[in-house]
Order: sequence, then C-alpha cells, then structure tokens
Amino acid sequence: MSHDNEEQYGFDTLAVRAGHERTNEGEQGEAIFTTSSYVYNSAAQAAARFSGDEPGNIYSRFTNPTVRTFEKRLAALEGGERCVATASGMGAILTTCLGLLKAGDHIVSSRAIFGSTVVLFNNILTRFGVETTYVPLTDLSAWEAAIRPETKILFLETPSNPVTEIADVQALADLAHAHGCQLVVDNCFCTPALQKPLMLGADIVIHSATKYLDGQGRCIGGAIVGTEECVGGDIAGVVRTGGICMSPFNAWVFLKGLETLRIRMEAHSCNAQILAEWLAQQPAVAQVNYPGLTSHPQHALAARQQNGFGGVLSFEVKGGQKAAWRVIDNTRLISITANLGDTKSTITHPATTTHGRVDPERRAEAGISDGLVRVAVGLEEIMDIQADLERGLK
Ligand SMILES: *Cc1c(COP(=O)(O)O)cnc(C)c1O
Repeated sequence: MSHDNEEQYGFDTLAVRAGHERTNEGEQGEAIFTTSSYVYNSAAQAAARFSGDEPGNIYSRFTNPTVRTFEKRLAALEGGERCVATASGMGAILTTCLGLLKAGDHIVSSRAIFGSTVVLFNNILTRFGVETTYVPLTDLSAWEAAIRPETKILFLETPSNPVTEIADVQALADLAHAHGCQLVVDNCFCTPALQKPLMLGADIVIHSATKYLDGQGRCIGGAIVGTEECVGGDIAGVVRTGGICMSPFNAWVFLKGLETLRIRMEAHSCNAQILAEWLAQQPAVAQVNYPGLTSHPQHALAARQQNGFGGVLSFEVKGGQKAAWRVIDNTRLISITANLGDTKSTITHPATTTHGRVDPERRAEAGISDGLVRVAVGLEEIMDIQADLERGLK
C-alpha cells in the first residue's frame, strides 16, 4: 500500500495495511528484517546514504524496514506525519524530553501520571536542570498558573492512571500554544482506536506499545507521533544517536497488534463498562472510577472526546489496604500484575506497586488511596471476571 493514497482509507484499513511495502518476494505477511546493517552497491552509494543525499537503510539502530512499517502504520492511525519507535514507553518519554528540552527548561505535568514518569521527571531530569511542576489534571486555571516563561512542555495522560480522570485535550492544547509550549499526551490508555490527541490539537502523542498496541502482553516498546518537523528532527536524532530503539521483532509483534486494535479496544471497553456498573452496586465498594459511568465527573467530556471509555477502571474497597489486598488475593483467574492492555485481565494495588515510589503526600493528592484497586479488564467472559472479584468483596 503506497503512502500517497493512504489518506483515503478508513481506520480499520490503515490498521491492517498501512506502511507495508512488499518486497520482491511478494510476501503477504510483513517480513521481519533481522539485520544490523545494510550493504551498498559502491563506496559512493555508502557516502550518499551517510550524508543523507540518498534515502535508504544504513544501520538498524535508526533504519529498519520492519520498525519503519510499524512507525508508518501507527502514524497513519494517530493522524500524524511521523512516528519514531522506541525501546519502551519510558524510552519514548525520555526521548521526547531529550529532544525538546535543555537545562533551564520547565515542564508542567498532570500530577496523575504513570509512576515511572514521575521518577523520570523528579529524579533524573532535575539532575540536568529541568524542573517539573505538577497540577491537577482537570484544573485548567492551575495549568495556566504553573506556566513560566521557561516552560516548554505540558504533559498529561488521559484517562489518567489509575483513577481515570479525563483532560480536555483541546483546551490544554490551546493553552499550551498561547504560551509557546507544546502539548505532549501519553495516549497509552485509549490508543488511536478510542482517541486521537493530535486531531484535538496536541503536538506529540506518546505510546507505551507494551500495553494495548501489543495487546497480548508479549513485548516492551514505545513510540512518539507528531508532525515531521516536531518528531523528525531532534527527537528522531535522540533515538538515532542515543540508541533507545525498537527491535525489528518487537516492531513486528506490534504491527500484528495494530491489526486487531480497534476490535480489541471495543471489546475491552464493553467488558469494563459491565464490570464498572456491577462494582458500583457492591456494598463493599466505596467508589468506582470509570469514565463510562454517568457518575464519573468528566463523563460528558469523555463521551465527546473518545470513541469508547477504555479497558481500565479502579475502585476503592472499604477498609483500606487490608481490604484491597483481600480482593486481590482472593482472585484465581485475574492475573496479579502491574501490566495492563493484555487480553488477560490484570489486577494491581497501585499504592504499593506502580505508585509505591511516589511519596505518600503526592499519592494522596492524585487520589490513590490505600483501598484503591485497579483492574485492566481483559477479554475473558465478563461473568467470570465478576465472580473472581466477588469472592474477595464478600
Ligand atoms: C506502562 C506505561 C508507560 C511506560 O511504558 P513502558 O513500555 O513500560 O516503558 C508510560 N505511560 C503509561 C500511561 C503506561 O501505562
């Protein structure tokens, strides 16, 4: 499928076919190019490739056909011009920061973000002179008040992990641009099947491909999507030189994942909606966080901004950590693991796992109480998942 006529195709067609350039072997399935380097016809051709005068493969740290196919397919799905694949989701966030920031710059970030992202911002970027201010995801005036002359990036996840708050991406993009900043959205929870931040004005979309893009819990990977100008320059340069690159095998697994992304996201959302409604009726449950519930504070915004409510929900069990752990320890089916985006449902206690390294005060601010349990709802029979949770809730 040639890149030129991709614009006319719908999401499902792009998910299955975008980015694949068939080789002379006529393969139907995309090939995995396991090669570290590439051979030139002459010294002159090698020189032209290295200087950039001739496009083409050089070395798989930054040019690999399988990785490129994944990049083109994800860019097409997000509505971006350029995608750079990375070794992990954290690699994508680090690469974005290294590409866009220098010492003295400042980040304004939602306080409800992935735990390792907080550690990256607080413990690593600060050593290179980059500071971060945290604000409540849904408080637009707090975002505005935190912006300084040296602010370069506004960073968020929506829905947030694990309490599923929803940001108004369009409003935050307008705010960022009014102050000469770029809006970076970690689109891990929704994927382009449910939400396209670039279409809402965001400048950069980040992915942990490890999650729903893979969809079956097999590989670690990440990606950065945006315009050619934004992603094709310094950000691509950081991966090329810094080596935070994706392996061809992992790229191939993610390509296969993208082919079923929309139907999986629909099924995850459907299962999560049923489970959320059921949990909301359980006497042992104090609160359920899921954007698909009409009781969710940003339900209307989520309905407008997203094509579905996603597969992740969290709920607060009455009785704190002890009660939360009882629910988790009484499961027989759901996997006790911090991963999400798998066909297999997973359950985790954020306060002592994913957000365990975040200081307790900030954790409390982010709504991550000791009784909170997060479930990434998989594709099993929803009645079986429900029965698995019911045991510990009794
Ligand atoms: C998992 C995750 C990441 C990090 O991705 P890795 O592939 O594990 O490095 C970043 N953001 C969110 C929202 C995540 O869930």
